[in-house]
Amino acid sequence: MNKNRLMSPGPTPVPEKVLLKMADTIIHHRTPQFQSVLKNVNKKLKEAFCTKNPVLIFASSGTGAMETSVVNLFSKGDKALVINGGKFGERFGEICKAYGVEVVEYKVAWGEEAKPEKVEKLLKENTDIKAVYSTLCETSTGVVNDIKSIGKVVSSTGAVLVVDAISGLLADEFKPDEWGVDIVVSGSQKGFMLPPGLAFLSISEKAAKMIETSDLPKFYFDLKAAIKSNLKDDTPWTPAVSLISGLDSVLDIVLEEGLENVVARHAKLANVTREAVKAMGLELFSERPSNAVTSVKVPEGVDGGALVKKMRDEQGITIAGGQAEFKGKIFRIAHLGYMDGYDTIAAIAGIEIVLTQLGYKVTLGKGVAKAQELLK
Ligand SMILES: *Cc1c(COP(=O)(O)O)cnc(C)c1O
Repeated sequence: MNKNRLMSPGPTPVPEKVLLKMADTIIHHRTPQFQSVLKNVNKKLKEAFCTKNPVLIFASSGTGAMETSVVNLFSKGDKALVINGGKFGERFGEICKAYGVEVVEYKVAWGEEAKPEKVEKLLKENTDIKAVYSTLCETSTGVVNDIKSIGKVVSSTGAVLVVDAISGLLADEFKPDEWGVDIVVSGSQKGFMLPPGLAFLSISEKAAKMIETSDLPKFYFDLKAAIKSNLKDDTPWTPAVSLISGLDSVLDIVLEEGLENVVARHAKLANVTREAVKAMGLELFSERPSNAVTSVKVPEGVDGGALVKKMRDEQGITIAGGQAEFKGKIFRIAHLGYMDGYDTIAAIAGIEIVLTQLGYKVTLGKGVAKAQELLK
């Protein structure tokens, strides 16, 4: 028997206390009891998002909130600037195209960050762009983008800035109001330490104005309905009662620790992971590494697919492989949400064992010793 350790950048482990909370009896959502839960959650969620703007909750995976941001901002034929530096930036472009929104794509090489000057140039060349789409942490590459600088560029124009912070929120430093971010999208199964199934979206006044005139088709994800209900601490449709109850519990944990401490904890584990893999002689993939996930190049001669598979099936540790053209070429170790130094040590120890089995020459314990040194 193996103990399964989830070290992927989503889904992530859920604290035991939160699992128990979600096992509570279901309460009806149109009751004072549930409304009081939702009222607390709405308030705490804003704190966790570091924003004064309302944060709406949907019963969907994170992609639902990405789609919400598209169908509510635009009308057919409108133009968006999409920063595509990996799988998730690419997805924003796909959603836009599915709804007939014209896409100006800023293609960033995998592993590199989006350059704010380039965003500025593209906005100058295309003055009719209504929204700019970026990821905070591009989970497929492990890059965290410089949203502060990109926000400075976008907020001086009429366009709104939409940021996919599904994996970056609570892991990487992020100040949406200060940095001029209009819509922040997130999900439950990453830094929020919950099962998959909830999506979040915050909305600024500038963005709220834009949604007034949007005529793309929408129904479940109609933000006008969601905002109206949110003002009354209600939801237009049946909310995911159990997950919201878990969210209530998770937000207490996060806010009690304090946002800055939560981010600092992620930064520490990220640093430990990076230094430990370097001590094993491996190379990092990302030019501006996120605190959520570390991407590592698969060394020459090693089968990257086998590494991830053996880690999962033989060591009980789920890490992530590369996606698309980087399948088999990189692997990704998360340090996100409910993970601690001993999870990181386990991941590093497992990687040393499996790499050795796959023919890579490393002295066992090199990476682990580095991790211990940095954690002590
Ligand atoms: C996980 C993730 C998503 C996808 O979310 P789903 O919950 O699978 O729909 C989108 N963007 C980023 C950056 C992610 O990490």
